[in-house]
Amino acid sequence: MSTTLPSHVDALVIGAGAAGLFYAAQFGARGRSVLVLDHARKPAEKVRISGGGRCNFTNMETEAARFISQNPHFAKSALARYTPWDFCDLMSRHGLTWHEKTLGQLFCDQKSGAIIQMLLDELDAAGGQLRLETDIKAVSRADEGFKIKTSAGSVTAGRLVIASGGLSIPKMGATGFAYDIARQFDLNIIEPRPALVPFTFEGAEKDAFAAISGVACNVRAEAGGASFDEAALFTHRGLSGPAILQVSSYWSPGEAVSLDLFAGGDGAAVLQALKADNPMKSLASALEVVLPRRLVEMLQGRGLVPDLPRLADVSHARLEDVAQGLSHWQVKPAGTEGYRTAEVTAGGIDTAELSSKTMEFQRVPGLYFIGECVDVTGWLGGYNFQWAWASAHAAAHSD
Ligand SMILES: Cc1cc2nc3c(=O)[nH]c(=O)nc-3n(C[C@H](O)[C@H](O)[C@H](O)COP(=O)(O)OP(=O)(O)OC[C@H]3O[C@@H](n4cnc5c(N)ncnc54)[C@H](O)[C@@H]3O)c2cc1C
Repeated sequence: MSTTLPSHVDALVIGAGAAGLFYAAQFGARGRSVLVLDHARKPAEKVRISGGGRCNFTNMETEAARFISQNPHFAKSALARYTPWDFCDLMSRHGLTWHEKTLGQLFCDQKSGAIIQMLLDELDAAGGQLRLETDIKAVSRADEGFKIKTSAGSVTAGRLVIASGGLSIPKMGATGFAYDIARQFDLNIIEPRPALVPFTFEGAEKDAFAAISGVACNVRAEAGGASFDEAALFTHRGLSGPAILQVSSYWSPGEAVSLDLFAGGDGAAVLQALKADNPMKSLASALEVVLPRRLVEMLQGRGLVPDLPRLADVSHARLEDVAQGLSHWQVKPAGTEGYRTAEVTAGGIDTAELSSKTMEFQRVPGLYFIGECVDVTGWLGGYNFQWAWASAHAAAHSD
């Protein structure tokens, strides 16, 4: 790898993550010169750690409704033009294989490093260049493009592509660089916030959850008008698990989260069936058939499972009452674990002035924003990488 930067490239990409590397490979393959700069020591570290090391690289159920944005239509065009199957084709060409884990989530059979290698091989084949450990000092407009001052010298570029991600996991090199560039060019930012993130609690709730740390159960979690049927996990700090991470993206501070411990099922019918099968048992011990014992004990302590020693003696109305409580359990998070553990950053570059066809900032031709820095945030399950691929593809194929 040479240490001097080229004096000019057709496109300069800032951020060698999923979106930046994929963009550069696609744009380079069109016969254009492209350089990717990153301040980190290694490229695409989030790909490496994703999906427990197997990268959940896409989701077969991809559609715009699985993304959160001020403009719910914005992602449609890019997602339609680069689909999960397009990325699977690319993986096949590189001899990589995959499997569906659950809910349309596709994971790599190989380690996630194989996907990084694929992206680097694609970049190389397209004649693109990558420079790591390079700090960006300043960005300015230049004749027919941009001038970028870096710790390794200056370079001019016809296009400047911001692919520097969001604020999640600062320990891994996340910065607000994209937002700084947006501010510099007077482009609006939708207030960034941690998303796909565990909730924290205080006081009695925190103590109660910590006491059963490690217990998981299927729930329907509801907040901000969205609901998800998946597992919730009690932790030392509060609540995590897929259902919780999903609703965290819709949650607003101060809001309660509603947990249905029957996961959308008919709670009253479940309790009636338990009564029929276990007339001599207490409610608490009968409930252990459908809920973890330690959770039932905790719910007893919180008054949600009353002391009813013989189910045979409990009226229909009373069981309906209990079912109501267990299917509308309101818990009030004190907050979230924040960017320290958030899988993504919601909010970001306002799509209002970006072209949905090309990701270009319409008031500053040649300036593009792709990937997580844009105000398009996917659900848990491969959607965020699919957005990285699709938005990069859309930008790379703009004339
Ligand atoms: C633990 C974890 C697990 C995840 N698992 C999944 C998963 O399985 N499936 C899924 O779809 N999504 C997953 N995600 C989300 C996914 O990783 C991101 O949405 C995706 O990586 C975003 O791609 P990006 O290229 O836009 O940004 P990033 O991957 O964040 O890349 C941005 C790059 O820009 C560089 N950069 C930042 N600031 C600067 C600067 N000032 N100067 C130079 N370079 C800079 C960074 O070093 C980085 O290399 C996970 C995230 C985390 C944290």
